[in-house]
Amino acid sequence: MKVAAVIVDVPARQTDRPFDYQIPEKWEDVLQVGMRVAVPFGARRLQGFVVAIKSHSDVKSLKPIEAILDVAPVLNEELLRLGEYLTETTLCFAISAYQAMLPAAMKAKYEKEIHLVSEQYRSQLDSSIQPFFSERSVVPWKEIEHTSALSRLQKDIQKGYLEVVYQVKEKGTAKTVKYIAFALPQEQRGQAIDSLPAKAVKQKQLLTLLLAKESMPLKEALEQSGASYAAVKTLVQKGMLHEYEMETYRDPYGHRDFPKTRPLPLTEEQKRALTPIVESVRAEEHRVFLLYGVTGSGKTEVYMQAIEEVLKRGKQAIVLVPEISLTPQMVERFKGRFGSQVAVLHSGLSIGEKYDEWRKIHRKEVQLVVGARSAIFAPFDNLGMVIIDEEHEASYKQEETPRYHARDVAIYRARFHQCPVVLGSATPSLESFARAKKGVYELLTLSKRMSDNGLPTVSVVDMREELRIGNRSMFSRTLFEKLQDRLHKGEQSVLFLNRRGYSTFVMCRDCGYVIRCPHCDISLTYHRAGQRLKCHYCGYEEPIAQRCPSCGSEHIRFFGTGTQKVEEELAKLLPEARVIRMDVDTTSRKGAHERMLAAFGEGKADILLGTQMIAKGLDFPKVTLVGVLTADTMLHLPDFRACEKTFQLLTQVSGRAGRHQLPGEVIIQTYTPEHYSINLAARHDYETFYQKEMSLRKLYGYPPFYYLTLITVSHSELTKAVSITEKISSYLRAHLSKEAIILGPVASPIARLHDRYRYQCMIKYKREANFTQMLKNVVDRYQQEMSQGDLLITIDTNPYMMM
Ligand code: ADP
Ligand code: ZN
Ligand code: ZN
Repeated sequence: MKVAAVIVDVPARQTDRPFDYQIPEKWEDVLQVGMRVAVPFGARRLQGFVVAIKSHSDVKSLKPIEAILDVAPVLNEELLRLGEYLTETTLCFAISAYQAMLPAAMKAKYEKEIHLVSEQYRSQLDSSIQPFFSERSVVPWKEIEHTSALSRLQKDIQKGYLEVVYQVKEKGTAKTVKYIAFALPQEQRGQAIDSLPAKAVKQKQLLTLLLAKESMPLKEALEQSGASYAAVKTLVQKGMLHEYEMETYRDPYGHRDFPKTRPLPLTEEQKRALTPIVESVRAEEHRVFLLYGVTGSGKTEVYMQAIEEVLKRGKQAIVLVPEISLTPQMVERFKGRFGSQVAVLHSGLSIGEKYDEWRKIHRKEVQLVVGARSAIFAPFDNLGMVIIDEEHEASYKQEETPRYHARDVAIYRARFHQCPVVLGSATPSLESFARAKKGVYELLTLSKRMSDNGLPTVSVVDMREELRIGNRSMFSRTLFEKLQDRLHKGEQSVLFLNRRGYSTFVMCRDCGYVIRCPHCDISLTYHRAGQRLKCHYCGYEEPIAQRCPSCGSEHIRFFGTGTQKVEEELAKLLPEARVIRMDVDTTSRKGAHERMLAAFGEGKADILLGTQMIAKGLDFPKVTLVGVLTADTMLHLPDFRACEKTFQLLTQVSGRAGRHQLPGEVIIQTYTPEHYSINLAARHDYETFYQKEMSLRKLYGYPPFYYLTLITVSHSELTKAVSITEKISSYLRAHLSKEAIILGPVASPIARLHDRYRYQCMIKYKREANFTQMLKNVVDRYQQEMSQGDLLITIDTNPYMMM
């Protein structure tokens, strides 16, 4: 007897382990680890992943597997193990980890079909399979599933004659193409053509055309032979031709030709960076590199030449790019160099398109994936390199279960495959730079820009001064004059408004003073109810000040401006300016983002106004002015990474202006011009910023000196949320070492969301032997209430969103 260990599709603590099922004899040779199956579970029929096949089970009277859902494994051994790693490190359920690795189209509710891969294979199909495919090239999976032909089917799939396809019903997507082929055996074809009446010239031409090829797309055949569709119909009736439909990939980039590019001769610096990476590929050694290079220093060229080495060795590579910078320009660079070897995965694709890209990877038709976060799960089995561009981006952390960081997954996979990881950035995350300094990662530096233009001039404008002279507008005099000037010259400007925080902080408009928590170095958050200021890390609170504690001014108030307000003010002050506003509200429709950027690129507007989504991909020749309206907004978010994020963003923005002939200029408006994040970004001085920020992180006990875990409890009843958070905190306090610091319970920065109250506690720790187990105990303890009541506990072992 053979037994399959199956992880079933019930994301709950009690079911988070493999269950044994008997493998029916007919499937013993068919079933493999990594396939999905349908199994009985209580009264239900569930989907599950086979994680092991064994010859024995301790369980008596096993139930049999009911159906096999895949003909080939959808997860390889490595991905199955990666799932275990994710459950351990992020405390997710195994089923959630496995589901996250597959494209949405494969999640259960889609119809499955068997497709003939190409007409030429029809005659080579196994004799038990051929009847299913008589007069058609698509067979519903259901028809074969329970027949004895299944194992034969699997062989034909392995040979590449057939494939399994998930039919995603999407409106308006062309996915099949009509083909024609000879319905006659080879030796009868010439004779058939001769037998046609002499006047059937077009029909003869059509068949002659087909003689050279096995099959042709109908449209092409009609065009080339000049025959009509009626002629095709006649030939089909005569039994000479055979007409059928074939599925084609929905290739979002298929309609475009990418001009082929060749590797550029590298500069000395680039060579020095590339050499150790290539060495690591050749030696099949796992090493992690941090490629620290200013914007425009040629990092992408280094990536591409490293990939070339990987592909030459018959291996595969994954390139991760933040969603937001996965622009057409970026795709073009990789497609231009590697052509059809590239699959592209990002959230702008439809479910069907994503699935098609995934299939290309699964079938080894591509060797390279360029994609956003989840592309890290690309089902390659001979991985030769992982590259993470803009490695400091917070979007590499998934903010729902499994709460993984793509960087950790990349390192896990690369260690498994004994290959390098390359992390690239102009402003590396503090964590990565610290590791590079310690020698855990190898630091590679590109210090020079490729273009002679150098970095743009950056001026910091003191908004307190503006107020002092009576300017209450959100534009400083300098910025306003420069906007007018660009308008006159017909040049373009970009206005940048940092994302507005969910919560508001209180700032003195006269001196820029922001009230911070004395214990956590985090801005206090304004609460209208009770007129109080609160710290969302430790719970410290104080009444709102009427006067600035620093300068005594009465101009102390909460702060925040939306893009819409800026747009209205622009319309008043510069009515002749054409403005494009880009924020979550105006770009929610599919493709809106690209369309707006394209319109701006074509000169259809004078000013582009937006949130951080416009910071990347900002590469327009006519942009000569970039204005940052309020550098402070992000600086004072209740997040210990606020300063780091501000520095990264301002550097990014400053590095983008004036990349072309016209020199660029950047204006940063702020109430705290003396703040190190702002003036060091203006001077493009990462190293000093790093030193300064590290000393503060050390002082206040934040990563990379401490690990953090954030536990958030939400409930529709406030008292429940509070009391459970309290219980969890005191449990942890009793069991953790003295070194660990437990902050809270305290209301979350977003204290109420969808009518649920949210409380949290944060744990700072260095080394805790049984911490994971303790957290599991917490989940166990409240399991009942979570599955029945409306309690929700989320544990984030590496939080990036402090809300
Ligand atoms: P980064 O990725 O660091 O921002 P890019 O790779 O985009 O930098 O390079 C900036 C520009 O310099 C690009 O236009 C690129 O084609 C060009 N470039 C890169 N390497 C070379 C090289 N070795 N010789 C000439 N031009 C180069
Ligand atoms: Zn003040
Ligand atoms: Zn505090």
